[in-house]
Amino acid sequence: MTKRLIFLGPPGAGKGTQAKRLAQQLNIPHISTGDILRGAISERTPLGQKAQSYMDRGELVPDDLILDLIRERLSQEDALQGWILDGFPRNVEQARFLEELLSELQQNSDCVLSLDVPDDVLIARLLARGRKDDGEETIRRRLEVYREQTEPVNGFYGDRLHIVRGNDTPEAVTQLLQDIVNSG
Ligand code: ADP
Repeated sequence: MTKRLIFLGPPGAGKGTQAKRLAQQLNIPHISTGDILRGAISERTPLGQKAQSYMDRGELVPDDLILDLIRERLSQEDALQGWILDGFPRNVEQARFLEELLSELQQNSDCVLSLDVPDDVLIARLLARGRKDDGEETIRRRLEVYREQTEPVNGFYGDRLHIVRGNDTPEAVTQLLQDIVNSG
């Protein structure tokens, strides 16, 4: 059974929703770097203070803030049996770092899933969600950052990548993802 999953895909593709469901079903932690960063902001930690302006502008938070966080999180007890990564890796450098970290931890990622949703649907979903970084201009920038920095991560994983059509009901997408995960 596949227990270490990496979720890729543009903002608004439904990674968070789907990752949460699968994590619950597989009984493994859902590790969302966006959630961790938003938690740090609301607790006013030094990490949160450094990250906030980047997030508000739709830019990636610098790698030096993210990499230690991931190393720490994946080394925790509850992550030994598996995990779902949502929002990481977000550029090729982060993907390389993750490969190294996993080999240090003597782990392998089992499955890389990318949710594919057309831009007009993404924009409509993000506008409807209305999170603090979901203003029109920030959304545009986040999609640009995705194309420039995150989409190349798909290529990094090559034939380990499964592209899943995300433009459907949440239930239908969960079913597609489960089929892949269970066959892996
Ligand atoms: P979404 O997938 O809807 O864009 P996330 O919650 O994954 O939302 O991310 C929100 C913001 O948090 C990003 O725009 C970025 O500023 C920051 N962020 C999250 N994960 C990372 C990461 N791995 N590297 C750099 N920045 C990140």
